[in-house]
Amino acid sequence: VDDDALSIEVRKDKLHGGLLAAGFDETSCVSRYQSVLYRKESQHKPSPYLISRLRSYEALHKRCGPYTESYNKTLEKLKTGHHLESTDCNYLVWISFSGLGNRILTLASAFLYALLTNRVLLVDPGTDMVDLFCEPFPEVSWFLPLDFPLKNQFDSFDQKSPHCYGRMLKNNSFANSSKSILAPFVYLHLIHDYDDQDKLFFCDEDQTSLQEVPWLIMKTDNYFVPSLFLIPTFEQQLSNLFPRKEAVFHLLGRYIFHPTNPVWGLITRYYQAYLAKADERIGIQIRVFDTGTGPFQHVLDQIIACTLKENLLPDISTEKPIINQSQKSKAVLVTSLSGGYFERLRDMYWEHPTVTGEVIGFYQPSHEEYQQTEKQFHNRKAWAEMYLLSLTDVLITSSWSTFGYVAQSLGGLKPWILYKPENRTAPDPPCGRVMSMEPCFHAPPFYDCKAKRGIDTGAVVPHVRHCEDMSWGLKLV
Ligand code: GDP
Repeated sequence: VDDDALSIEVRKDKLHGGLLAAGFDETSCVSRYQSVLYRKESQHKPSPYLISRLRSYEALHKRCGPYTESYNKTLEKLKTGHHLESTDCNYLVWISFSGLGNRILTLASAFLYALLTNRVLLVDPGTDMVDLFCEPFPEVSWFLPLDFPLKNQFDSFDQKSPHCYGRMLKNNSFANSSKSILAPFVYLHLIHDYDDQDKLFFCDEDQTSLQEVPWLIMKTDNYFVPSLFLIPTFEQQLSNLFPRKEAVFHLLGRYIFHPTNPVWGLITRYYQAYLAKADERIGIQIRVFDTGTGPFQHVLDQIIACTLKENLLPDISTEKPIINQSQKSKAVLVTSLSGGYFERLRDMYWEHPTVTGEVIGFYQPSHEEYQQTEKQFHNRKAWAEMYLLSLTDVLITSSWSTFGYVAQSLGGLKPWILYKPENRTAPDPPCGRVMSMEPCFHAPPFYDCKAKRGIDTGAVVPHVRHCEDMSWGLKLV
């Protein structure tokens, strides 16, 4: 693409059809307006209602964000420990918790919840959030100030904490408090180990009572958006915001997650050096939850079986050499903690010609061997790799992995998902195409709030279904 064509492209949809606000300083976060150069045009346009709600959220954030007059006033209620009259601004504090893929999914869930409940989202910077993500809202930061009074309690918040919503319900300390002594903050425990009381968060009645609480503090490792679609109060708003349900994370993710300049450098250098020139880009995301160090033969077999069966890669020829080399080239981006799968695949397609004559190149940006949560460069690479996967044309992902969910939804891609191996054997079929690009909610509640009994929440409405890779999970389709 020559420079003129590029600049026309940029002007055309730099703002993703109105999803992004204009007027940011471009150099402080190059990816925000440059990502359009690397992405295919999205099939999913934001609805006019979503655009207008985002602009009004930005205004709310500017009015209520850190160190504004309203923020300082609401903070007083935390310090004095009670509140009498309703507040001007209410807040949702997201605690930095779990792996990077999980955090990206939970932050998007928290943002949607904040939009639905007119709260201001504040992000605990944790160890690396500032290093990885640009500010998404104009003018006022989304990061929780370091001097936030409860900050040093975040790590210890759990189901036994006195302000934990589920525990308050058990003790009747939430319902019994008259408005005059209502707690100024509630801790929402939405981690996969949460109990029946914590799960009442997903009930209409509970949402009504939580409305009055100025500070909600949330710790979660799950993409809980599908269950928000089952709460009657939010139904109408959600259907106006997202006429197409399968684009929820796709749109919210593209709105809030912009890689910082160092991460954008990792993405663009890699893309230009190894992926840009290929006729087709294929992503293979390999995440093995088995214990023991890979690579495992059954996983390699499964990947090869999937790519051949679904015609994603051509077979190799072991007999005669292929003379007529086709001009078509495919670049395969492999991501994995282990380097072993990549090496075996690369060698296979180097040592043998393909039956079609196509030339296949394999590339793997890193092989970090094991998950390291505190190391800075480690998560920069992880974020860059999720993003690079999202820039491919065809995607293969692993079951249960939030890393893969982020890549597929950001990219607007419906991947082929490698079904989870049992007892170290590749399943048959090895993979299948997913119904939608939405992430899976791994630990949803199975409760009918009105009837007060258990139900199958995957069978209530047509757009909330069980996931392909986890039978008890829920996803939007
Ligand atoms: P999940 O465990 O697959 O759901 O994904 P998470 O992102 O929540 O946690 C896994 C963490 O392990 C990531 O944040 C990375 O730090 C690391 N990780 C897993 N797979 C890869 C990979 O393919 N590349 C890199 N660079 N890191 C990975």
